[in-house]
Amino acid sequence: MPELEPRGPACGGAAAGRLQAVRARIAAAAAAAMRDPAGVTLLAVSKTFGAAAVRELAACGQLAFGENYLQEAQAKQAALADLPLAWHFIGPIQSNKTRPIAENFAWVHSVDRLKIAERLSAQRPPGLPPLQVCIEVNVSGEASKGGVAPAALPALAGAVAKLPGLHLRGLMAIPAPTADAAAQREAFRQVRELFDDLRARGHGLDTLSMGMSADLEAAIQEGATIVRIGTALFGKRIRNA
Ligand SMILES: *Cc1c(COP(=O)(O)O)cnc(C)c1O
Repeated sequence: MPELEPRGPACGGAAAGRLQAVRARIAAAAAAAMRDPAGVTLLAVSKTFGAAAVRELAACGQLAFGENYLQEAQAKQAALADLPLAWHFIGPIQSNKTRPIAENFAWVHSVDRLKIAERLSAQRPPGLPPLQVCIEVNVSGEASKGGVAPAALPALAGAVAKLPGLHLRGLMAIPAPTADAAAQREAFRQVRELFDDLRARGHGLDTLSMGMSADLEAAIQEGATIVRIGTALFGKRIRNA
């Protein structure tokens, strides 16, 4: 007979301290923007870190995790199946990987073309709620980066919103990194304006996924509702990702 799994770790140690510090940053940024901190969801980006690190944060009440690589994510999902976690896919999507993404995630933040959206919709299992999706928009104009060009966004959003297996929630962006706070805000402001424009066209959107460890304050100033935080929660990644 298999042994009972040992109970998970209690909340404590370095993970608890980092989580508390990130929550405090979010609360301070929300207060500075005169926003309710409850309107900002913390997504813990666990790429390159193992299941044990995820379990430590889960013990402290952090239940939403973001992953960029399918195989790595699936290994963690299997190891953590006893926990009520919400998994968000935030990485580039190849069309031959859409089925396991549609089957194993609650959210996808990185939809940037219709073909991928159509496959995710068709492959979402009927027994699950619609896949919650954001369209990734490329506001920095970096050709090497994912994301739809702003000019092509309205047409893509119109088509994605019609897909039955998906629920279009909003936009995601990864602006070019900069230490300049004003430049950070300018990029996030562009994303928010695109979001406002889609809402004005009748899309019922409620999600702006933007802000990472180095720029979450600027993102919250400009209306982020989900911040995606890796380094500040888990420490520096060894493998570049
Ligand atoms: C890695 C990653 C993050 C987290 O970045 P940090 O700077 O470590 O907080 C957020 N979003 C995406 C899409 C990522 O790939």
